[in-house]
Amino acid sequence: KPDIAMRLLALAGRPVDRRTVHAVEDVDLAVAPGEVVGLVGESGCGKSTLGRALAGLHPPTSGEVVYRGKPVRELTKAERLAYTLEVQLVFQDPYASLNPRRTVRQIVGEALGVHRLAPRGEIAERVEAALAEVGLDASYASRYPHEFSGGQRQRIGIARALAVDPRFLVCDEPVAALDVSVQAQVVNLFMDLRETRGLTYLFISHDLGLVRHICDRVAIMYLGRIVEEGPAQALFSDPQHPYTAALVAEIPDVRRRKRRFTPIAGEIPSPMAPPPGCAFHPRCPHAMPVCRETRPALAPVAAGRQAACHLHTAPGASPAAISTTVG
Ligand code: SF4
Ligand code: MG
Repeated sequence: KPDIAMRLLALAGRPVDRRTVHAVEDVDLAVAPGEVVGLVGESGCGKSTLGRALAGLHPPTSGEVVYRGKPVRELTKAERLAYTLEVQLVFQDPYASLNPRRTVRQIVGEALGVHRLAPRGEIAERVEAALAEVGLDASYASRYPHEFSGGQRQRIGIARALAVDPRFLVCDEPVAALDVSVQAQVVNLFMDLRETRGLTYLFISHDLGLVRHICDRVAIMYLGRIVEEGPAQALFSDPQHPYTAALVAEIPDVRRRKRRFTPIAGEIPSPMAPPPGCAFHPRCPHAMPVCRETRPALAPVAAGRQAACHLHTAPGASPAAISTTVG
């Protein structure tokens, strides 16, 4: 049974916090306990919107988020609180998400106090335990966010999430703003926490190399829709959607120490006014007449794998062409 699932979702594009929230449609995504699911796509494709919706911060206009078998809108008050606490969001920009006027102790301990999850006298202790878990010394608790490096701030953000004992972390580009050397440390911390706490993750990223490294399963988004979904290894070695194949072709080849960079041709169309038919058709090397008219549905293409591409169903078309997308 999935820990969290999202079905037939539609999210209107509207600005939140002065940032544009992009339209997301027809998403069917389930995450099993203990899984690390990657959500990948170019900037502006709706990844963050989907992550926020899953964490309960952006209610769907239609469809539902299902938490541990129950639609979120049907949760009792107590269940709703449990959902709010058990699903924690770790943000892209650690600095922007930490109140500069509050100490680390106040930031990490805030939810414990607000929701009375610990007696007053125990909050300091719980904060120190959370800091220790992310590798920060207890002496940091009385300091302010500006006194820390980017990597340390992200650790503070993670400690804040851990303080309320979450089951599920929605991580939205959690290392994108960090130096490459620090990125690896923070990613290792996430993977250690997966073991020690049995955490489940939705890991939102545009970094396919990272996602391939840490995820069990991956969903690829393009202009507000999931276009492919499946086990990470299979998806990367044998993509079933031309967009996935094009992204895979862009992964830097570390072994050869040279970047095989083949940018995908064409501009990304506006998510507010996606092209008709398959939204990828203006950039797709395999586009057929049907692609301009009919939107392909996300459908099973192999065991445990789904893709939304007419090459799998159109008469005379062959999905074997997809692998040739890789230049
Ligand atoms: Fe390309 Fe057509 Fe498949 Fe869209 S449906 S990815 S345009 S082949
Ligand atoms: Mg984003």
